[in-house]
Amino acid sequence: MEAGLYLHIPFCTSKCHYCDFYSVTALPRKGEIVEAMVKELQTETGFLGSSKPALRTIYFGGGTPSLLQAEDFTRLFNAIKASYDLEHLQEVTLEANPDDLTPEYLAMLRQFPFNRLSIGVQTLDDAGLKRINRRHTAAQAKQAVLDSREAGFTNISIDLMYGLPGQTAEFFRQTVDEALALPVTHVSSYALSWEEGSVLYKELMQGRLQQASDELLEAAYFELNAVLAAHGFQRYELSNFAMPGYESKHNSSYWNGTSYLGIGPGAHSYNGVLRRFNLPSIDQYMESMRRGEPARELEWLDSNARYNDFIMTGLRTTRGILVKELEKLFGVSKRYYCLYNAQKNLKNGFLVYEDESLRLDEKGLFIADDICSDLIWV
Ligand code: SF4
Repeated sequence: MEAGLYLHIPFCTSKCHYCDFYSVTALPRKGEIVEAMVKELQTETGFLGSSKPALRTIYFGGGTPSLLQAEDFTRLFNAIKASYDLEHLQEVTLEANPDDLTPEYLAMLRQFPFNRLSIGVQTLDDAGLKRINRRHTAAQAKQAVLDSREAGFTNISIDLMYGLPGQTAEFFRQTVDEALALPVTHVSSYALSWEEGSVLYKELMQGRLQQASDELLEAAYFELNAVLAAHGFQRYELSNFAMPGYESKHNSSYWNGTSYLGIGPGAHSYNGVLRRFNLPSIDQYMESMRRGEPARELEWLDSNARYNDFIMTGLRTTRGILVKELEKLFGVSKRYYCLYNAQKNLKNGFLVYEDESLRLDEKGLFIADDICSDLIWV
């Protein structure tokens, strides 16, 4: 099966207060890092089991990939074209910050193979945006979506967050309503997660902020599900909703076990037997690429680890865990292990088992992690 390619662009011009992703503000080093990524693209094809692997999806994530300019994309796409088979390429996504998406920038993007944008809107409340130190305003975010459509992008995803400090259920609902008036085809929505390295987490520890209650988070999530469904969006994964035919092919590959190669500092890769993590340090990345010995951590996946991946990713999707496939891949004992451990959650209605598929029921959506830990191999 064709693989996915992920390029991690580790720059941001400022740090959002909820974020602990690996990114730096060292923009002047962009050129040398892009060059190192070109080298990694050329030398890592073997991870996907071929000298010229076939790609189905390419995803530029970050960081802020929309800080790259035409000359950077030219270098990266030339390297991709030279070393990978793009005959079956279907989806090429750029993650973008709204304030980068000027009409000129969008026109430049159209010269490259991008056919999908994922725009970090987060909220359409200016005070909320300021609170989390986003660079853009609500008006800029809306304009970016409209300009993207105007530039010819028909596959536009937006990210929305709930559980932000001070965000009431009404504010979130207002954001969702305003967002759905825009020409978007896909929505990813996540509750704010209080990451230890983030500014918000420090403020929480200092008692300057309060976490949203579980009740508020749950209400926001179910409200989001209902409103999106009423607008024709189908939930296909816990946090992802799409108009029919607009599901993210790249992200779906993370949930259906497709191999992907991650390029750049902090990028992850997976090929069915090995998970690999490029160290999240530009200095180490550059130095190791110079030596020709990339700085990485490796995790070889035994059958139990692969079974756990299968459970965790399957349960997140509306398709669920395909029990026949589970048995084919891991044997009859794992099939019984999974179904035996599912009993409690089947009885209390958090899981459903039908058509040989074990899925989260509506009631189980909000406690998916707990249900998952009942099913994995320990
Ligand atoms: S959320 Fe995105 S744009 Fe903001 S600091 Fe993190 S990686 Fe950068």
